[in-house]
Amino acid sequence: MITVAKFGGSSLASAEQFKKVADIIHEDPSRRYIVPSAPGRRFDDDTKVTDLLYACYNAAEAGQDVDGPLALVRERYEEIISGLGLAVSLDEDFKTIRQNLLSHAGRSYAASRGEYLNGKLLAAFLGFEFIDAADVIRFNDADEFEDDRTNLMLAKRLKDADYAVIPGFYGSRDDGSIATFSRGGSDITGSIVARAVTADMYENWTDVSGVLIADPHIIKDTEVIDTITYKELRELAYMGASVLHEDAIFPVRSEGIPINIRNTNHPQDKGTMIVESTCKRAKYLVTGIAGKKGFASINIEKDRMNEEIGFCRKVLQVFEDNKLSMEHMPSGIDTMTVVVHQSEFQHREQQVISGIHRAVHPDVLELESGLALLAIVGRGMQDTRGVAGRAFTALARKNINIKMIDQGSSELNIIIAVKEKYFEEAIKALYEEFVTNCPHPRVD
Ligand code: ASP
Repeated sequence: MITVAKFGGSSLASAEQFKKVADIIHEDPSRRYIVPSAPGRRFDDDTKVTDLLYACYNAAEAGQDVDGPLALVRERYEEIISGLGLAVSLDEDFKTIRQNLLSHAGRSYAASRGEYLNGKLLAAFLGFEFIDAADVIRFNDADEFEDDRTNLMLAKRLKDADYAVIPGFYGSRDDGSIATFSRGGSDITGSIVARAVTADMYENWTDVSGVLIADPHIIKDTEVIDTITYKELRELAYMGASVLHEDAIFPVRSEGIPINIRNTNHPQDKGTMIVESTCKRAKYLVTGIAGKKGFASINIEKDRMNEEIGFCRKVLQVFEDNKLSMEHMPSGIDTMTVVVHQSEFQHREQQVISGIHRAVHPDVLELESGLALLAIVGRGMQDTRGVAGRAFTALARKNINIKMIDQGSSELNIIIAVKEKYFEEAIKALYEEFVTNCPHPRVD
């Protein structure tokens, strides 16, 4: 059995957290490959080491003093070293980092040092081998991750290492310079490592006990989801439920390796299992409820639209030409609606309006802003009658008007648009209907 365990920034923010992490790792010898983030926040208004490093980079580029901000970074690591009683000196590392910052080694280089140094300390504390991610994770010159090459290199290298720490978040280009994933990218590194060693499990240790059924800011005391499929998680994540970097699913998914979200501060909690597919029924009819504000819709009407071949394509071409991605597209016989992210759309709105006029000559073209989308997600909804009906009734009971409905043919989700001002109330109404008062709670 091989487990890859990734620990997030809050799990490794201090010496005390390092000790919890080491206990977790030593408790199970299958935890052989460890992927750390950089030290995160120790308390609410603390600064993550990655952000301190970006500040060092900005100072160096602006020709300002780097020693001040770099000393703050060093303080964080020295606190960990002394708290753990480690016989490790970072003198040489900090000398090199300072020099490289001054010689403009790049923004990614600066940011990556957070994971690099944390990886070195964690490896020393655990007695594991340290493998620099720059040697095993490849990006091309356009900073795109090189999947196949990395997989080969990593698999070959890790064959020779029984127990190793591989820092998250970064890799290198062919010329040796450093590139990073986007923020939160250590989750991706963990997934890549899990695939390379064909792990049985990818554990992702963080500061929550798993994926929650709904946003705890809206629903207090909501429950942790026990098992969720990759597809369900994608749907919920798209709607703002964030536990994992969204690209972290793909490497393990291609090998059918499950992800277990765990809480470093409550290791006894089972957390959430994210799996390819499962026979396990969700506890409730819906697996999760999520939503997001900030959408706008473009409503287009034209008599005999349905007879005009290529109408949708011409409309969508306008969005493509303006580099806008379309989120949903419900349609009627003579109407179609395109839902977009308002923040992206508003910069291009006049170009889109004139483009649509030129392309399809609509009778009516109206914009509506300030929309929120809600998603009810669950594999249990498939072939179950009355789910949509219950959702609409729950919203109607609260006097909430539905602006749009969209259900994919997979029956995995139902998407409902409402005015932003009803967002929280709508989530609560759906939660009440499908979780609190679920008349047929399903038991695992
Ligand atoms: N340290 C990086 C960040 O703060 C990457 C990570 O934590 O995954 O985004």
